[in-house]
Amino acid sequence: QRPAGIDVVSEALADLYRRCRDLDQGEVADYIPQLALADPDCFGLALVSMDGHRYQAGDSRTGFTLQSVTKPFVLALALAELGTDPVGRRVGCEPSGEAFNAISLDPVTGRPANPMINAGAIAVTALVPAADPGERFARILDCLGRFAGRRLEVDEAVYRSEAETGDRNRALAYLMRGTGALAGDPAEAVDTYFRQCSVRATVEDLAVMAATLGNGGVNPVTGEAVVPEPVAVQVLAVMATCGMYDAAGEWMLRVGLPAKSGVSGGLVAVAPARFGVAVHSPRLDRVGNPVRGVAVLRELSERFGLHLMHNP
Ligand code: GLU
Repeated sequence: QRPAGIDVVSEALADLYRRCRDLDQGEVADYIPQLALADPDCFGLALVSMDGHRYQAGDSRTGFTLQSVTKPFVLALALAELGTDPVGRRVGCEPSGEAFNAISLDPVTGRPANPMINAGAIAVTALVPAADPGERFARILDCLGRFAGRRLEVDEAVYRSEAETGDRNRALAYLMRGTGALAGDPAEAVDTYFRQCSVRATVEDLAVMAATLGNGGVNPVTGEAVVPEPVAVQVLAVMATCGMYDAAGEWMLRVGLPAKSGVSGGLVAVAPARFGVAVHSPRLDRVGNPVRGVAVLRELSERFGLHLMHNP
């Protein structure tokens, strides 16, 4: 006998899938040639509750590169290893209101605005303690895998495509070395960041990763404590204010959950102490957020009163 709640969630996901699958606005990202090859109609949803129940609808087993959705999880690793202040000396925590790839560093401190835009994420990646770049990426990949509850892999074709076209990110890294925001060698930092963006997973993996953050850093499927609870809370706070590119304010107004999107169409959102949810759909809106993902989360939040400021 399955608890009644399970059917409610499965039905809600199936319904959201049906209602949003015909949305065909938006464009697949093409500034990285390999990303342009994505099937624009691919659409998957997954949700994982704090007791480790897994739900899905649509193309939930299709692999895709996580891109910027890795940013909160690598931030969690850096915070767990180093603590808040050492990370805060290199990167701020203010929403930038600018595009993900903006060349904007604070004129006084030289720091990028926050760890969810490219500049900030590159600075955070470079902070992960390791003896050499190979070990640094191995630690990042291992950590992403512990969040997901299974070992993840790099999509080498996307990595190469990213490295071939990533001059803007390289420029950001060199600028940050100039201002003191970047620890170590800019070329190595960007290479590690490109590999991180090219880690491949499914929307089911992503929902487990999101649920781990919502569960105080403990993976609800494997039971592993991946990061300490205060770190999970800090990461959720940064996601809430900075996770949705330059639509973070609009997102907080209409959905009201910590979230992070990426250019390959992935989106994670967290209802703290309740569940993690993920959507994959490659068509992006004007600011780079997945059109169907945003529609799904808006509806889910409204239907179940999930907005964090809501008084249940
Ligand atoms: N690899 C991408 C870049 O840095 C990630 C961007 C994103 O998903 O926002 O250009």
